[in-house]
Amino acid sequence: MISLIIPCYNEEQTLPAFYAALNRVIEEIAETAEHEFEILFVDDGSRDGTLDLLKSFAAQDERVCYLSFSRNFGKEAAMYAGFCNVRGDYAAVMDADMQDPPELLKDMLVQMETGEYDCVAARRISRKGEPPIRSVFARMFYKVINRISNIDVVDGARDFRLMKREIVDAMTAMGEYNRFSKGIFGWVGYRTCWLSYENVERSAGETKWSFWKLFRYSLDGIISFSQAPLSLASYCGFVFTFLSFLAICFIMVRKWIYDDPVPGWPSLACIVTFIGGVQLFCMGIMGQYLAKTYMEVKNRPHYIISESNRKDVRKIR
Ligand code: UDP
Ligand code: MG
Repeated sequence: MISLIIPCYNEEQTLPAFYAALNRVIEEIAETAEHEFEILFVDDGSRDGTLDLLKSFAAQDERVCYLSFSRNFGKEAAMYAGFCNVRGDYAAVMDADMQDPPELLKDMLVQMETGEYDCVAARRISRKGEPPIRSVFARMFYKVINRISNIDVVDGARDFRLMKREIVDAMTAMGEYNRFSKGIFGWVGYRTCWLSYENVERSAGETKWSFWKLFRYSLDGIISFSQAPLSLASYCGFVFTFLSFLAICFIMVRKWIYDDPVPGWPSLACIVTFIGGVQLFCMGIMGQYLAKTYMEVKNRPHYIISESNRKDVRKIR
């Protein structure tokens, strides 16, 4: 059985075409191999007609299940709900906007059946159609996170991947509140096959990720998988102590040899504000980690399901 997890947030414009395309692919797969399918839509608190659409799909198709959140919890929570509730031997996460081409599922299955891999993941090799500033920051983010963490986060990797049950179980076992799936996949490991494809633009509607939302998400990723920023304070501290020691020596020598009184309060003011800035910056970094720890310690649920056509779902988790 293959389970497909589809997070949807205000996707009424894209869902009909997506569902039709998905059905075509499932039919094509059924021609060559026997697989049962489960299509699990996770409605992430949509405010448009998404839930009604999902209900109409479920009414005509018994493979369709839907979970509807009580509010918008974010894509990560939607994926987590999917992992917690799928029943398949294989599972795949797919976006509802056709940016994860459903046809790729066939190639993924072929790779999976070779038995060489536990996971087949999609990776876009271009970013055409994306705002250039977003691409620049995305590239920078991948460089930084690969340098300062010891997990491997592949540039252009999508959340779209077909994985074995073991990986689904590992994903649910990673119950952290601040979820960064690209990192969690890397952390979990397993043999992964990468399928490359050209970027596809959203079929309709608009992206739900503003620049700032993505920026915050990237910080989440760094904080979740690297402690390097925390060491920054110690490095800065060390460097500034050393520099100030040199400066003290310089000023004492100048006073003794040349009897030069120490002029210049502007330079002093600059130094004080500069050091103040560095200190606040370092404290801010610690604050970020503290905030994440605070949220983890609270142990709040990841999501609340208000409605579903399945009886066996755990509503709060
Ligand atoms: N999504 C979600 N909750 C959110 C934001 C997005 O479930 O809070 C879903 C959305 O419906 C889509 C997928 O996540 O199926 C990817 O979102 P989007 O296409 O907006 O992101 P992008 O492809 O631009 O990164
Ligand atoms: Mg998209």
